[in-house]
Amino acid sequence: MTLQTGFIGLGAMGAPMARNLARAGLLTAVWNRTPAKAAELAKELDVTKAADPDDLARRCDVVCLCVSANADVLESIAALLPGLRPGTVVIDYSTVSSETARLAAAKIRAGGGDFLDAPVSGGVEGARAGTLAVMVGGDADTLEKVRPVLEAVGGRIAHMGDVGAGQATKAVNQVLCAGINQAVCEALAFGRALGLDLDKVIDVVSKGAAGNWFLEKRGPTMIRGSFEPGFKLSLHHKDLNICREMAQNLDVPLPLTEKTLADYRRLMAEGHDEEDISALLRLWFQLDRNCQKN
Ligand code: NAP
Repeated sequence: MTLQTGFIGLGAMGAPMARNLARAGLLTAVWNRTPAKAAELAKELDVTKAADPDDLARRCDVVCLCVSANADVLESIAALLPGLRPGTVVIDYSTVSSETARLAAAKIRAGGGDFLDAPVSGGVEGARAGTLAVMVGGDADTLEKVRPVLEAVGGRIAHMGDVGAGQATKAVNQVLCAGINQAVCEALAFGRALGLDLDKVIDVVSKGAAGNWFLEKRGPTMIRGSFEPGFKLSLHHKDLNICREMAQNLDVPLPLTEKTLADYRRLMAEGHDEEDISALLRLWFQLDRNCQKN
């Protein structure tokens, strides 16, 4: 039986994920806070533009969310609850705290449905290609029930444990992203000071042991001062605050996360919050005394 699926939150990630659900023949309805985005996508994909989140829930067996932060997930859950049908599964692809996932799950389960936290990694490129890494927390049987929905957006689906375990895994991922961003910026600033052709550096080191997704995808644009998102710096800042809170509770030090939070705060104060996280290079190029300021 086809799972009638709805999508709430048609931003940089949500819109291409919804497109892949439509390609898989699963998408029934969409809703977005800014209505024009929903109207446009509903027309493009020939699906229903729901009047509001509870109208969307009324039409669907599976409701997907991809919104910004903790409060936005809880607001969206409250808004869809009146329309929730018994057995409906809500999948939250947003990056939020494990605590928010548990609060959301309690509300959905009390309403007769079930909830999976399913944060993703792979950027807008992965969202477009349907190859995202999906880190799932929740009931294993529920995951199996909605597997086709997860597989329409993901190349790797991993069940990490109970509700909240997906978000905990994503927190680990975000700490890694902070370290990789810092390492790539430090290395590129060093390479520039050495007078190397950075396009050639990126090309050759990407093929070796230092190769990584961020360098390959963002390296060529960041060295040209192009910081189109991608992944907005303000969103990674939000994620690293979640990581910091989780680490403080466990008394685990996260020095790279702390440095990155401080650097992002500086960039946000300078008005770069809507840029891609690779805008971190602005600070590294400015700090490199052998190079001209950007
Ligand atoms: P985005 O482009 O800023 O889109 C955010 C979406 O959430 C928009 O559709 C926005 O609606 C909606 N929204 C925000 N607050 C809302 C609220 N209170 N109620 C209803 N809708 C609300 O962000 P994104 O890049 O798609 O990221 C979405 C989530 O995925 C975030 O949690 C992010 O951390 C995570 N993520 C992003 C990436 C990436 O590379 N971009 C990768 C992995 C995970 P409007 O259109 O009205 O603003």
